[in-house]
Amino acid sequence: MSLALGLGIGAGVALLMGGVLLALGIRGRVADALVYCRRCRFCLDGIERSECPECGRVVGEVGTRARRRAVRIGRRTRRPVVAGAGVRIYSTGAVRTAFIELP
Ligand SMILES: [Zn+2]
Repeated sequence: MSLALGLGIGAGVALLMGGVLLALGIRGRVADALVYCRRCRFCLDGIERSECPECGRVVGEVGTRARRRAVRIGRRTRRPVVAGAGVRIYSTGAVRTAFIELP
């Protein structure tokens, strides 16, 4: 394997890993399992009304299909450390790619 090819594969792996880490960090992890309005993210836990008290969106009765489509379960929190590591790894790959000399 030539040096340029090895560096190219390494840079590709860094780009891929960095991208995946960045995406995971931005997406975040599930912080709880409560019910939230899909439009305004107001917590609907324990609220029996058929519309969101915050934004007025019709969220349907509890247990119906309309309700399941109008709400989301769980709040996500971003993971800045993971996203930052992703950016650093990705930029390492990007810099390597820029300096590869093709044979
Ligand atoms: Zn709402």
